[in-house]
Amino acid sequence: MSEALAKKAAALDAADELAPHRELFALDDGVVYLDGNSLGALPRHVPARMQDVIAREWGQLRIRSWEESGWWTAPERIGDRIAPLVGAAPGTVVVGDSTSVNVFKALVAAVRLAGEGRDEILVDASTFPTDGYVAESAARMTGRQIRALAPDEIGSALGPRTAAVLVNHVDYRTGRLNDLPGMTAAIRSAGALAVWDLCHSAGALPVGLGAHGVDFAVGCTYKYLNGGPGSPAYLYVRGDHQPRFDTPLPGWNSHEDPFGMRPAYVPGDGAVRGRVGTPDILSMLALESALDVWDGVSIEAVRAKSLALTDFFLECVEAYVPAGRVSSVTPAAHAERGSQVSLACAEAGEVMRALTARGVVGDFRRPDVLRFGFTPLYVGFADAERAATELAALAG
Ligand SMILES: *Cc1c(COP(=O)(O)O)cnc(C)c1O
Repeated sequence: MSEALAKKAAALDAADELAPHRELFALDDGVVYLDGNSLGALPRHVPARMQDVIAREWGQLRIRSWEESGWWTAPERIGDRIAPLVGAAPGTVVVGDSTSVNVFKALVAAVRLAGEGRDEILVDASTFPTDGYVAESAARMTGRQIRALAPDEIGSALGPRTAAVLVNHVDYRTGRLNDLPGMTAAIRSAGALAVWDLCHSAGALPVGLGAHGVDFAVGCTYKYLNGGPGSPAYLYVRGDHQPRFDTPLPGWNSHEDPFGMRPAYVPGDGAVRGRVGTPDILSMLALESALDVWDGVSIEAVRAKSLALTDFFLECVEAYVPAGRVSSVTPAAHAERGSQVSLACAEAGEVMRALTARGVVGDFRRPDVLRFGFTPLYVGFADAERAATELAALAG
């Protein structure tokens, strides 16, 4: 569409140190995949690893694999692979269950830790729905009141009644990045516990769970972490909370002596306490293999590229799409932006269908939002320029 912007894209791609990572993923030429914030692309090496897991570990070793293939300890081992990506100490992250289930464990455990006098749970009103549903049930079960507030209202609502606060780090709809360091500090100084949902931030930007003193965190692995459809989620419990982490789902996998088969529950020590039942080994090992793409990658470099990509996409949209046809609902300030751009657009559902048919895959969120996720390991600047070109062709 514009010679100058196409040239700029080529120059940015040529200077991009993460560009070679694209080859690690199974992506078709001609398709611009901007939906990695919903389902990350497949790393090319994962199918061969899964073939081995299925044919040899399951097919030949069978029951022996729980020990010999390291299946039993996979939840903590893979947790330790995710930990550095979210700034967590070793031994504080466990993989398993879904994000929804982990929100439940974390929030109930947070309320239990907060103690009896605190009768309110604050929740991000714009949260991904599952978090809100689970929080409402957790509040009912623990005899607390739920208060849904915009993230910027939470600070002034904190007080001696606050037990726990559940916030999404990046808003799934608008791409707004919430202030995790500032909000966590405010929540903690009110004597409450902070529970962060990292679904749209882990793998896209530095999180700093340890540095910022976050109490609990959860997140999924099938978005920016490319673990595959329905791959297991993770749960972070700050090290000093672990001994008092009182899970509402005390399954046998988290028992101090799981094979003792004892009638009374005694929790194990450390991250293992976040486990429930038998892990979904196939999905878990696909995730473990997929995490290889992060070897040698700095999350700061990922963040820098992500911001450059979303800036450049917005610049191309501004230049190409007729004025008034779309408007960004993603904050312009870097400090408030995740790794996606959301554009409000009339007939957004139709527009996204047509864009996808032209090889630019994003997604549509009702009522009127086009979402474009920028996954720095496999999206480049020419992709961003092409997406804006196709959008302009449809919107013109
Ligand atoms: C994607 C997402 C989820 C998904 O939860 P599941 O239990 O994996 O279905 C939850 N919360 C947020 C904020 C999300 O973005």
